[in-house]
Amino acid sequence: MVKRGDKVVIGQLLGESSGFVSSPVHSPVSGTVLSVGPFPHPLGKQSIAIEIQNDNNDEYAVFPPFEKPWREAAPGELVQKIASCGIVGMGGASFPTHVKLSPPSNKPIDTLIINGAECEPFLTADHRVMLECTDNLLEGILILRKILGAEKCVIGIEENKQDAINIINEKISEHKFRITVAVLKAKYPQGGEKQLIQAITSRQVPSGGLPMDVGCVVDNVNTALAVREAIISGMPLFQRVMTITGPTVKNPKNLLVRLGTPMRDILQACDVDFTRTKKVIMGGPMMGLAQSDLNAPVIKSTSGLLCYDKSYPGVRQHPCINCGKCVNVCPIRLIPSRIAKFVEHDHMDDAVEWNLMDCMECGSCTYVCPSKINLVNFIKLGKYRVQAERTAAKKK
Ligand code: SF4
Ligand code: SF4
Repeated sequence: MVKRGDKVVIGQLLGESSGFVSSPVHSPVSGTVLSVGPFPHPLGKQSIAIEIQNDNNDEYAVFPPFEKPWREAAPGELVQKIASCGIVGMGGASFPTHVKLSPPSNKPIDTLIINGAECEPFLTADHRVMLECTDNLLEGILILRKILGAEKCVIGIEENKQDAINIINEKISEHKFRITVAVLKAKYPQGGEKQLIQAITSRQVPSGGLPMDVGCVVDNVNTALAVREAIISGMPLFQRVMTITGPTVKNPKNLLVRLGTPMRDILQACDVDFTRTKKVIMGGPMMGLAQSDLNAPVIKSTSGLLCYDKSYPGVRQHPCINCGKCVNVCPIRLIPSRIAKFVEHDHMDDAVEWNLMDCMECGSCTYVCPSKINLVNFIKLGKYRVQAERTAAKKK
């Protein structure tokens, strides 16, 4: 939508979405478009991006307000606005929120679950949002509930975030909102959708199924806040809260960062000791992705940057000793050692039969493996191969 030399302002539409499961991109700064082309992407590949010279004038686009009070709007109108503002799930998966909010009519949603259980150790961005933006967060949750027509609305928060539990409970009773807080055990992976649904409703999402199959939608607290900004202020998603931490960060903190900011600039702003940093992970320690190019930008799913002073184990360090630790730790009762073996020997049909595609990539199996086998890497590789085979089969 823009070309070299164009002037842009904050919130201006830069790229439209090309399919149902995609979302538009808006400018995070005001300035001049320098180039449009391939740039490093945090997922490790090159991707088409727009390079903007920031003029630091912070000139904003005029955001059209929502035509009526949101309580009087039809769910479809609200969903349309959310889609046009480019809101995606900000817990890490980046799934477009308007798609999640449009379940088919044969899958009624009775429960909206708001994920306030930080998805990974080290990350504290969700915690800060619950403490610092409580009113706006609750309004975003009410908007989400109206869209879904959900009878029940529960915010899941881990027991170690008592301050967040207190402030949210206070606001709920002050305004008499029909929202409850579920206090959850602080354990990993508590923030996974399936774990959260089971912990809060005792319902089990079936193998290969989605939360909507058991009447639930799960949204992260940062997503609810972005939904509120879109509906009340008309503001598209061009910034996000993220955690910058780790042993080599001298000033760890949570920052509100403009999307597109190179990771290196953010790390410098937090006084990272680059001489000691051996690895930078985007996301948390379990599911995050190691970064090879710190010129890659913050994207909508960047929940944090983690800086380590020692390297992670490679793919296979020692043979499997059949200790069963990976089986015991798997939250969805898979047999990671077996699945990884199938993938390693390219027996993809067997891997699928042993529920490869159900893995939520939490990384717990890799974490506990005494042989330092990077099981989740094999599983990710296997899923990638299966998806590629399925896509190729569809094209035939
Ligand atoms: S990453 Fe490992 S522990 Fe986590 S769900 Fe997948 S197989 Fe289970
Ligand atoms: S934890 Fe590691 S060594 Fe133990 S069974 Fe699983 S893959 Fe094998």
